[in-house]
Amino acid sequence: MSKRTILIHPDPRLKTVASPVTDVNGALISLADDMLETMYAAPGIGLAAPQVGVLTRALVMDCVKEEGAEPRPMVMFNPEVIASSDERNVYEEGCLSIPEQYADVERPAEVTVRWIGRDGEEHQEDFAGLWATCVQHEIDHLDGRLFIDYLKPLKRQMITRRMQKLKRERARS
Ligand SMILES: [Zn+2]
Repeated sequence: MSKRTILIHPDPRLKTVASPVTDVNGALISLADDMLETMYAAPGIGLAAPQVGVLTRALVMDCVKEEGAEPRPMVMFNPEVIASSDERNVYEEGCLSIPEQYADVERPAEVTVRWIGRDGEEHQEDFAGLWATCVQHEIDHLDGRLFIDYLKPLKRQMITRRMQKLKRERARS
């Protein structure tokens, strides 16, 4: 496993619709394992393939937060929300591609997701709470959508300018 570089917004690859996985092969499994390592190291609770520059419908997440609890690394290929609750939830979201910027985003409180796992098998599960927010945030990445796209234009532009500045500073150092 190796850590990959996380792209910082704005980047055209973060605005691109990713392609479906056709075959869960070794290369794809190493990508997922690298993404998990990258996510845990960041640290973060979710990471989508476009964030490491791979335009494939793959994401990883682990929203277990309790101190000392078993981690639950999840790998999803071609994830799809197949049902969502009418009830909505607001969470303060952040993103590894938009470091240190947070904003409230409203989404369905519960979702049912179907995906192909690291084992190549189809899985389906209901998610609630932070897991529901996280999986929807990550699936958005596969459609070239960021959490700041839900914000008012002024707020979005402000965050984007901060990120442009951060990228300039990083390029210089
Ligand atoms: Zn994100």
